[in-house]
Amino acid sequence: MTIMEAIRGDITQFDVDAIVNAANTSLMGGGGVDGAIHRAAGPELVAECMTLNGCRTGEAKITKGYRLKARHIIHSVGPVWHGGGKGEPELLRSCYTNSLKLAAAHDLQSIAFPCISTGVYRFPPGQAAEIAVAAAREFLRQPSSVQRVIFCCFSDQDRQRYEALIECKTQQQ
Ligand code: ADP
Repeated sequence: MTIMEAIRGDITQFDVDAIVNAANTSLMGGGGVDGAIHRAAGPELVAECMTLNGCRTGEAKITKGYRLKARHIIHSVGPVWHGGGKGEPELLRSCYTNSLKLAAAHDLQSIAFPCISTGVYRFPPGQAAEIAVAAAREFLRQPSSVQRVIFCCFSDQDRQRYEALIECKTQQQ
């Protein structure tokens, strides 16, 4: 049985097969969750990232987890919010779908996502949560190695948002 859950916490502490990094196109580290993941994983991470040639918005690339408990890091680049008319919703959906596909391609079972694009990239958090849950639900319809999808929320407001979305759709099924 596959599960989706919302947990409030610091994603760098999660013991899962992969955590997802809300990266930027350079993959060389940055602020927010990206900076926290690079600090916690150690300098070996940036060395591996240098070999990857960056990452396009909406796409995803995988590295080892190094000093993290998580075995892998899936780096995905969310869209910067410019009002919603520049393909931002579709690109954000692609981040979730491509990260899940990559996890399945590596036979991973558990994956934790941060709320991609909702920090300095300014994507509206309610809409971002709807997209994230819908993309994961759609992906989990097909059998794959992925059994557990965690939405790691930094704020309690985000946790409540994700819990409501996960529950309300579960009841409809
Ligand atoms: P983006 O550039 O994609 O907007 P940010 O890192 O600025 O990325 O923010 C994305 C989300 O990650 C925000 O909701 C922010 O609160 C959250 N966040 C920041 N640090 C952490 C962390 N250590 N663990 C989990 N989530 C985090």
